Amino acid sequence: MKIISVNAGSSSLKFQLFEMDNETTIASGLIERIGLEQGIVTIKYSGKKIVNNLEVKDHKVAVDILLKALFENHIIETIDEIKGVGHRIVQGGEIFDSNCLINQKVVSDILDLQELAPLHNKAHVTGINAFLEVLPNTPEVAVFDTTFHRTMDEVTYLYATPYEWYTKYGIRKYGAHGTSHQYVSSICNHLLNKKDSKIIVCHLGNGASICAIRDGKCIDTSMGLTPLEGIPMGTRSGNIDPTIFGVISKKENKTIDEILNALNKESGLLGVSGISSDSRDIEDAMKSGIKRAELAFNIQVKRIVDYIASYYVLLEGLDAICFTAGIGENSSVTRKAIVDKLKVLNIYLDEDLNKLRGQNLISSKESSVKVYVIPTNEEVMIAREVIRLANLK
Ligand code: AMP
Repeated sequence: MKIISVNAGSSSLKFQLFEMDNETTIASGLIERIGLEQGIVTIKYSGKKIVNNLEVKDHKVAVDILLKALFENHIIETIDEIKGVGHRIVQGGEIFDSNCLINQKVVSDILDLQELAPLHNKAHVTGINAFLEVLPNTPEVAVFDTTFHRTMDEVTYLYATPYEWYTKYGIRKYGAHGTSHQYVSSICNHLLNKKDSKIIVCHLGNGASICAIRDGKCIDTSMGLTPLEGIPMGTRSGNIDPTIFGVISKKENKTIDEILNALNKESGLLGVSGISSDSRDIEDAMKSGIKRAELAFNIQVKRIVDYIASYYVLLEGLDAICFTAGIGENSSVTRKAIVDKLKVLNIYLDEDLNKLRGQNLISSKESSVKVYVIPTNEEVMIAREVIRLANLK
């Protein structure tokens, strides 16, 4: 059974086509620069990669191009082969406490939430509508980044700001990367085979968040109203003192939006190092002895360790720490720097295991807590949700 997972951004559309009988990716691709003069269409299948530059007027055209590429390359022969479409939606607010089949009410609710995710929700709806137009009889499912975090209690999700900000405007912590945290923690639960498991998942990619999970349920997570809160990331600052807004606005004559843009796009590893948002570049620069690269790396590691330590207390102990996403899966240097700071909790790495690639236990026999690398797969989780919610089995 073939299912498409879709991640629609304001000017891009990312997809993966799965054969869900064995959960393998048959094709994947990215259509970028939608609405701009020259779009870029990249399709990958059977070890091949095709890149084309052409105008992609809007998301509907992007979906047409995607399907045409699937036909032309004989990845599918008829449109009916696609049994369902799953959409990643960043913000489900308090409206969506579970993933769901998409109908007009769901679309308008997702749009109503766009104030909480201005960059994302509107773009997701554009993607949903484009697929509805091209595949009107195929079920579409919304999978929210926030639903996994709906189990946090109010002591955890409320900010200590005027209570009316919450009741009037929904200002609270929602978290993000929920699909990834759920996927990774479910594999970890399976590996631990233990009741009432206590797990911390470190999703460390260009965007990064930490999640405390007890018995399969999110207890706390580092991202907040938006993905800007929490640990420093590739280009995001993570937590800061909001007074910085006032100071920078006066000193540099900047608006709130301009400062937010700097905190989202010019901070984190990039902002501190002045070199790059990519941890590979930071690691290379550290090897060359560039101090600000070392500083950027160390600030990120320190803040990650702060969260792990606080979640250890929150969970009243810990069974496992899982590393996932681009940095978590690939950077043995980052993993070592983090775990080396956890010795006081009797958590130790096996340095040889830490060098392996793919899913692995990387803690030593003496470690009181198991440390795993578990590659994430948000797209397959989305496709699984399509099958479950559209009752396709
Ligand atoms: P993601 O957002 O999960 O795709 O992760 C992207 C980030 O993973 C990149 O910006 C890199 O910083 C990081 N990354 C990917 N591969 C490696 C690697 N081999 N070593 C260190 N960092 C990596």
